[in-house]
Amino acid sequence: MEQILKQLPQKAREAEAENKRFFTKLKKKPPKHLDTLMQELHEEEFQKTDCLDCANCCKTTGPLFTDKDIERISKHFRMKPQQFISTYLRIDEDKDYVLQSVPCNFLGADNYCSIYDVRPKACREFPHTERKKFQQISNLTMKNVAICPAAFNIVEEMKRRVNSK
Ligand code: SF4
Ligand code: SF4
Repeated sequence: MEQILKQLPQKAREAEAENKRFFTKLKKKPPKHLDTLMQELHEEEFQKTDCLDCANCCKTTGPLFTDKDIERISKHFRMKPQQFISTYLRIDEDKDYVLQSVPCNFLGADNYCSIYDVRPKACREFPHTERKKFQQISNLTMKNVAICPAAFNIVEEMKRRVNSK
């Protein structure tokens, strides 16, 4: 996995132009079966890729925290939301709450998340490859393929399957 993660940004750069063309076409005319296809591709990929071998999202980007996330997680720590915010979070350029630093404070050395049951919604959903209307998040996905090896593989397989129809 270490080697895969090392090569990933370069591979994502090499695929960027093709991905851009692919997603532009996809947005204009998404295939009818896209939701089902994404579900299949997501499941197939995550049978092969174990996030516990990777944790690259937790190490390099981290999620944004919604008000609900902050409420739930601070309660878990028996902290006041404001205290949780000032200890762990900052506001980014899009005015979202994000981690003050990465790797995420809640990531263990064994790649386990210490707040797994109450983790932010964005962590639960990352890399968003099983969401419906996947074509709507193509800009985000093009960034995610440089961080997440599973997202990279899913997009590569997606291009093969959609283009062969
Ligand atoms: S979601 Fe992607 S980047 Fe995050 S741990 Fe799993 S494979 Fe790695
Ligand atoms: S809260 Fe947990 S899942 Fe989310 S970035 Fe931190 S360690 Fe990873």
